[in-house]
Amino acid sequence: MDGSGLPETRSTCPYCGVGCGVLLRPDGQGGLAVRGDPDHPANWGKLCSKGAALGETVGLGERLLAPQIAGQQVTWDHALGQVAARFSKTIAQHGPDSVAFYVSGQLLTEDYYVANKLMKGFIGSANIDTNSRLCMASSVAGHKRAFGTDTVPGTYEDLDEADLVVLVGSNLAWCHPVLYQRLLEARRQRGTRIIVIDPRRTASCDQADLHLALEPGSDVALFNHLLTRIYEGGALDKSYLRHVSGFDDALHAAYADDIAVTGLEPAAVAQFCAEWIRSERVVTVYSQGVNQSTSGSDKVNAILNCHLATGRIGKPGLGPLSVTGQPNAMGGREVGGLANMLACHLDLENADHRAAVRGFWGSGPLPMAPGRKAVDMFRAAEEGRIKALWIIHTNPAVSMPDADRVARAIANCDFTVVSDITASTDTARLADVLLPATAWAEKSGTVTNSDRTISRQRPVLPAPEGPRDDWAILADVGRRMGWAAAFDYTSPAEIFREHAALSAIAGRFGRDFDISGLSDLDDNAYDALPPTRWPVSQTKRGGRFFGDGGFFHRDGKARMLPLRWREPAARTDRRYPFRLNTGRIRDQWHTMTRTALSPRLSAHLAEPFVDLHPEDAARLDVAAADLVTLTSAHGSAILRARITDAQTPGQLFAPMHWTAEYAPKGRVDALVAGATDPVSGQPESKAAVVAAARF
Ligand code: SF4
Repeated sequence: MDGSGLPETRSTCPYCGVGCGVLLRPDGQGGLAVRGDPDHPANWGKLCSKGAALGETVGLGERLLAPQIAGQQVTWDHALGQVAARFSKTIAQHGPDSVAFYVSGQLLTEDYYVANKLMKGFIGSANIDTNSRLCMASSVAGHKRAFGTDTVPGTYEDLDEADLVVLVGSNLAWCHPVLYQRLLEARRQRGTRIIVIDPRRTASCDQADLHLALEPGSDVALFNHLLTRIYEGGALDKSYLRHVSGFDDALHAAYADDIAVTGLEPAAVAQFCAEWIRSERVVTVYSQGVNQSTSGSDKVNAILNCHLATGRIGKPGLGPLSVTGQPNAMGGREVGGLANMLACHLDLENADHRAAVRGFWGSGPLPMAPGRKAVDMFRAAEEGRIKALWIIHTNPAVSMPDADRVARAIANCDFTVVSDITASTDTARLADVLLPATAWAEKSGTVTNSDRTISRQRPVLPAPEGPRDDWAILADVGRRMGWAAAFDYTSPAEIFREHAALSAIAGRFGRDFDISGLSDLDDNAYDALPPTRWPVSQTKRGGRFFGDGGFFHRDGKARMLPLRWREPAARTDRRYPFRLNTGRIRDQWHTMTRTALSPRLSAHLAEPFVDLHPEDAARLDVAAADLVTLTSAHGSAILRARITDAQTPGQLFAPMHWTAEYAPKGRVDALVAGATDPVSGQPESKAAVVAAARF
């Protein structure tokens, strides 16, 4: 209860991977009063501007309330009959790999579980991928290469106890604001040092002790250099190295790399290395600036190499910490909702794992190889190899690289289904079938944040008549496709219990993800589930991983990898002389489907813009607030100029949020090539090459 005497409901903010707890109270007029949950371990009562404005974004004004086929309202029975029939017919004619799901880190774990089970277990294809591919697939790949599983070793508490926090490719102040506030509190309390590694000077640099504005994509060279300094400075943890293989090769490769490619001043590099080496408690936080790169997986492993060589992992106040962009990117990873993963951190390529999951699900044979990852999926749709596509809670016509091409691919796909809460996204307008889904404040389920904490999302507003829960829509289609027993779910609690029971198999195979201790929650206990960090099994509960080794490769050892710096895929030249970095702003979220509904959030930065250095502005004869045309080999955009020395000459920054609805030429991802990391399949969204001219 708050001061009003009305009951509050505990839930979770739906925006970023910090996973803040919220207390929600309906205002009786369709809106919500929102405050931070003082008992949630991710935020202890704090909220950022987006979380605090949640109550302004829940109106019904933009809601899709009934299924549509070809723009005409139809019944649920007709719409789902069409979806099931078209998917079944396509599979019968062209095989299971002719269909695909493209889903979202906005899904709750229970929704994600059903989608993954339907595609991998019963349709028999691994063609399910998610917009998390654009967010942190490189971290997944890096973790699996180093640790043998996709494990986040540390916790948020490590930020409270660290002596040094290094932010790599992370504007934590804007993109994970509550974690940033937590870091600043630690700095006030115990003088935590902060180093930012980022090509541009962001808000996260305001309180930093050092900012290294390295050349885009050169992170591997910097961390390779750090590894050589660790070695020469006597900072290796020789005792811990018995848990690690590959050290000699990694060090040899590190010496072969050239720190000069970072473009950094030697004195600044020396200071970074000295601080990193002398600070026993060092946390390296990394995010999209690391992940969204054609060498993203190598960047992650270059960071992990340094932590493994020093044994700085899995203990209080130290370790690598990947922070995810979406509220449930981690839940999606747990259920295997990526094209290259099986459920519960089991491996698609492992016959024993496949057999165990197949037996548990009672399904047909599971696919033996990865399916199509996001960029490849839409290319396959463009080429007619994917003929039926179901897009759930995401807007790839705006957010995918080469967005114009992706929009054409969706438009030309034989059959496209879109599930969303609104019909007014660029992607929804291209759908053959539109399915109305329940929204954040109406749904029940769980999400997992960046430090493995599972939190309940609870319904607090009545769903309008019409929309249905995603798990229920997917299960209904599964039943109509002939798998009635496997998809006979009646509640998200039932799905959660099944997922938790499946994780016991992962535990028996010695995998990290084990929540079998939650498999017998009854409905009331599920509803009351407090924030819970996994693993939750008979033998382990919460805590950190790897402090004493215990990695998930067969030999129990971690792997250090030999790595060499690689340039971004696209090279600047006379035609496209600028490097374009894309990213988020403080008060908008993804393609603005929710945050644009809040006037105060939209007031922060009201229109799409491009940041450029004063020297570049002078050369282009551009004044502040002029319109600037950016052109690449893939598309163009027209953006408002902001002139700032936060940018390095030759480099531009533009936010990725705006859609055709708000700014017809503000879709910045139309400029970005679809080049991807060869290991993770994550696109390079921060190193496009463009031309710029005054409009
Ligand atoms: Fe929501 Fe992230 Fe802000 Fe927390 S930090 S309130 S999870 S947007």
